[in-house]
Amino acid sequence: MTASHHDFVIVGGGSAGSVLANRLSEDPANRVLVLEAGRPDYAFDVFIHMPAALAFPIGSRFYDWKYESEPEPHMGGRRVYHARGKVLGGSSSVNGMIFQRGNPLDYERWAADPGMETWDHAHCLPYFKKMENCLAAASDDAFRGHDGPLVLERGPARGPLFGAFFAAVQEAGYPLTDDVNGYRQEGFAAFDRNVHEGRRLSAARAYLHPVMSRPNLEVKTFAYGTRILFEGDRAVGVRYARSGRRGTDTVRAGEVVLCGGAINSPQLLQLSGVGAAAELRALGIDVIADLPGVGENLQDHLEVYVQHACTQPVSMAPYFAMRKRPKVGLEWLLRKSGPGATNHFEAGGFVRSNEDVAYPNLMFHFLPIAVRYDGTLPPGGGGHGYQVHIGPMYSDARGTCKIVSDDPRKKPALRFNYLSTDQDRREWVEAIRVTRSILEAPAFEPFSGGELSPGKEVATDEQVLDWVARDAETALHPSCTARMGTDQRSVIDPLDMRVRGVQGLRVVDASVFPYVTNGNIYAPVMMTAEKAADLILGNTPLAAEPVEFYRHGESAAPVGA
Ligand SMILES: Cc1cc2nc3c(=O)[nH]c(=O)nc-3n(C[C@H](O)[C@H](O)[C@H](O)COP(=O)(O)OP(=O)(O)OC[C@H]3O[C@@H](n4cnc5c(N)ncnc54)[C@H](O)[C@@H]3O)c2cc1C
Repeated sequence: MTASHHDFVIVGGGSAGSVLANRLSEDPANRVLVLEAGRPDYAFDVFIHMPAALAFPIGSRFYDWKYESEPEPHMGGRRVYHARGKVLGGSSSVNGMIFQRGNPLDYERWAADPGMETWDHAHCLPYFKKMENCLAAASDDAFRGHDGPLVLERGPARGPLFGAFFAAVQEAGYPLTDDVNGYRQEGFAAFDRNVHEGRRLSAARAYLHPVMSRPNLEVKTFAYGTRILFEGDRAVGVRYARSGRRGTDTVRAGEVVLCGGAINSPQLLQLSGVGAAAELRALGIDVIADLPGVGENLQDHLEVYVQHACTQPVSMAPYFAMRKRPKVGLEWLLRKSGPGATNHFEAGGFVRSNEDVAYPNLMFHFLPIAVRYDGTLPPGGGGHGYQVHIGPMYSDARGTCKIVSDDPRKKPALRFNYLSTDQDRREWVEAIRVTRSILEAPAFEPFSGGELSPGKEVATDEQVLDWVARDAETALHPSCTARMGTDQRSVIDPLDMRVRGVQGLRVVDASVFPYVTNGNIYAPVMMTAEKAADLILGNTPLAAEPVEFYRHGESAAPVGA
C-alpha cells in the first residue's frame, strides 16, 4: 500500500470530472489527482473519436460499465440495458454528442425547492455560456457563449428527409424555432452537437487534454476508487484498485470530489458508509452518516423509435452497409469528413403534448435512417428509411440505485420503475399520437413506404403502452441519485456541493440534479460542474443574468428583438 497526498482527489475522469480537473488545477498551488476506472481515450481510437462510430463502444467491456436494470415491474419484468462510459471523458466519450441545455423552466423548477434559489435559470445561464463556444449563434446572442472550451457545431440537417421533417412538423401544427438552447426551446430546429472539425469533442478533449501538462495535475487511468477513507466524519482519502495489479493503493486528500456519475457516485457513497443506516448495517458496512436520500430519487428518460420505410433512395442507409464502411472510415481518417464525421442526430424538437404542461414534455430526434442505437435494423428494414426517437421528458416515476453487497465489484441494483405512474402512461400515449401526426403529414407522402415500427397493428392506447413496455430503451440519462437540497432526504448542499453530515467530501455529476432536465443531460452536467468549480474554490460566482425567455401563453418579446 502506498499513500500520496493531494489537495483534491477527483474520483471519475468523466464529463464533470474533466471540468473540475481543469478548473481546480488552474491555481498551481492546488495539487489535483484524477482517478479514472476506465482506459485512456487514446488519440488513435476511432471508436471514440469518429462521431458516426457512436454505437461501437456500447456493450463493449473496453468502454462501457454495462449496467442493466433489475426486472422492471411495469415492463413485463424486462431488464433494461444501461450503457455508461468507462474511459477518460466518461459518458461524453461514448455518447450521442447531442447538446441540449433543457428548458429554462427546468432550472426555475430546481430553484423552487428550499435552499435551491441560486440554481435558477438566471444563475445557471452564465455557466452555460462560460463553457461553450456556439458557432451558430450571433455574437450578441444573450443566451449563447463564444469563448468556452466546448465548441458546438450545429447539425447541417440538410437533404430531402430533413426538409420533409421540418415541413411535416409545421403541417402537424408545431412551430419551428431558431435555437432550442436559446430564447425558445419549444419547436423544431437543427441541433447543436459536440462535434468539432469532424471529431467528437468529449469533455476530456475539451477540458482535460489541453491542461494535462500542468505539473499540479495528475491523471491515473485504470484506477477504480473502491472506498472513501474517513477519520471520524472527515473524508481524508480514497482507496483504489489498479487494473491488472493485486491489492489496493490509497491516496490522502484534502478534499474528495466524487464525479463517478449517477450510478457510481451513490454506489461509492454507500460502500463507504454514507447512506441509509439500516440498509448499510444490513450489508455489514459501518455507518459514517445516515443519509437516507443516497441512491433514492433515480430519474431517467425512456425512449422508443418510430420507424418508416422510405420509397426514395435518399436516406443514410447505404453508408451503413458493411461494404461501404471501409470507404467511410478512410475518408474520415484522411479528411475528418463524410458520413463518418456526423453523429446523425442533426435535428429534432420539443413539444407540449397537452395543455396542462407549462413547457415541452416531449423531445424528438429525427434521423434520416431507420436503425436502433445499437445498430439493430427494424423487421423488414435494412433498406432506405427514417425514424424519430421520442419520449417524455419529466416523468414522475422515481427509482433507486442501491448497493447489494459491500464488494465494490458487485454492481448496484437499479430500479427505475418506468411506466409506473398515470402521468407517465398518459404521456406515452400522447407521444406516439404526436409522432404519428408528424410522420403521416403530407410532406412525408413522397417518401413514406409505411410504418415499420411499431406498425399499424399497434393502434389502441393499450397496444401502444404494451409496445412501449416491450420495446422502449433508456435514453441513457440516469440522474438525481444524490440530489441537492436542504430537506432531510437531500444529499448535497446546493451552496458548496458538500455531502451533508460529513466533511471533506463533495459530489459533482448527474447525481446532484434534483429533477432530470427536459432534454439530453450532458450540457446540464457540464454547467453544474462549471458552477460547482467556483463553489468549491470559494470564487465569487458569476453574476446572475435574468433574461426573458419564451413561456407558453405569455407574449414576452425575445431579448434584443
Ligand atoms: C451511450 C450514451 C449516449 C448518450 N447520449 C447523449 C447525448 O447525445 N447527449 C447528451 O446530452 N447526453 C447523452 N448521454 C448522457 C450523458 O453523456 C451523461 O449523462 C453525462 O455525460 C454524465 O456525466 P457524468 O459526469 O455524470 O458521468 P460520466 O461522464 O459517465 O463520468 C463518470 C466517470 O467516472 C468514472 N468512474 C465511475 N466510478 C468510478 C470509480 N469508482 N473510480 C474511478 N472512476 C470511476 C467512469 O468510468 C466515468 O469515466 C448519453 C450517455 C450514454 C452512456
